[in-house]
Amino acid sequence: MPLYEYYCAECNGIFELLRPVRQSSDPQPCPQCDSDSRRLMPTDFNAFVVRDGMPRRIPDDGTYWGLEGRLKNPLTTNDPKPEDIIGFKAKRPDSTILSDEERATPKPEVVVRRREKKRAKAATGDA
Ligand SMILES: [Zn+2]
Repeated sequence: MPLYEYYCAECNGIFELLRPVRQSSDPQPCPQCDSDSRRLMPTDFNAFVVRDGMPRRIPDDGTYWGLEGRLKNPLTTNDPKPEDIIGFKAKRPDSTILSDEERATPKPEVVVRRREKKRAKAATGDA
């Protein structure tokens, strides 16, 4: 089922619904106020209440959106504060840091034979 967007004039907000295609143009009840809402066409995005550059979404829980997901406060810089990111997970320890065991294991020697052959050929002059 495709995802459609509907506009509630009462709440002045947009909500999404998964609808079968044949039901998509029927008015849908708003999840917040239950009034009939009409389907939004991509050309309808004109003058909505805008929050952080996006039309207000219903249900409205007062959060904002950034690339990191939901934010508690609107973005004011390129990098949101970690405490503003809802569900923020601290970075895992750097996996590139070697453990003591890994450090103690000697790395296998890499032998490059091909290059030596080429060099030898070049030195004798028969290319
Ligand atoms: Zn509504």
